[in-house]
Amino acid sequence: MLKVLTLGCLLSMAITTYADVRLTVFNCGELRFPDITAFGLANDATDVREMFVPCYLVEHPKGRLLWDTGLPLGAAGQGDVALDDGSMRYARSIVAQLADRGLTPADIDLLALSHFHFDHAGGANAFADATLLIQQTEYDAAFLHAQTNPVFDKTLYAALETSRKRLLNGDHDVFGDGTVRIVSAPGHTPGHQVLLLALKKNGPLMLSGDLYHFRASRTLRAVPVFNSSKEQSLASMAHVESLLAATRATFWIEHDMALARTLKLSPAFYD
Ligand SMILES: [Zn+2]
Repeated sequence: MLKVLTLGCLLSMAITTYADVRLTVFNCGELRFPDITAFGLANDATDVREMFVPCYLVEHPKGRLLWDTGLPLGAAGQGDVALDDGSMRYARSIVAQLADRGLTPADIDLLALSHFHFDHAGGANAFADATLLIQQTEYDAAFLHAQTNPVFDKTLYAALETSRKRLLNGDHDVFGDGTVRIVSAPGHTPGHQVLLLALKKNGPLMLSGDLYHFRASRTLRAVPVFNSSKEQSLASMAHVESLLAATRATFWIEHDMALARTLKLSPAFYD
């Protein structure tokens, strides 16, 4: 609890005293799953079957951080692409959308993924020159034991094998001033993490990763059957909910399509 309160104080200070941080949201694809029972939900728990797939650019005076890289780059411009249990669609790649902003992958200083599943690591190979911020536990699962775990597709991020890394063991203050904080939230994968931002105008904002996939997942505390640990997932949900209460942060479920339809996408931004 002390940790939560301290973070809350830091964030309220951040709003008035810390650096200007700018968040840009990109449409990095859409997913459709006709059957959602794999997400730990009965099919009548919600009628939502589509998921938004975002990428986020965080611009701080000390550098640019890309949070999540969307669907596989090869799916871009291909129309509906079949998956085992659904389909995906990706209009324009994150690399092309960054180019619209006058940015190339070389302009990205730091790369962090909520976790290494295909809909978050899909563009990772393009950002091998960035420093990767990754939990040690996620590194072990995604790089050392990927062949034993079917939810990790190493071909999507093989180029990161040799990239510079900050191996994390828990929460991490990315720029050292409290404005951009990675919060460890394991369970979906061994090193799953969420991102807590202190934006001056918009206030504190948390990006969920895949802590929840649907709004109903949050209401029902639904744990997908493919999560690495149900116990850790529930503990992470409890921890994040207490952080949200302490910081009064806005909470974006990254895959929430209804939310996505209300968001300003690139080139607009949140600051
Ligand atoms: Zn996902």
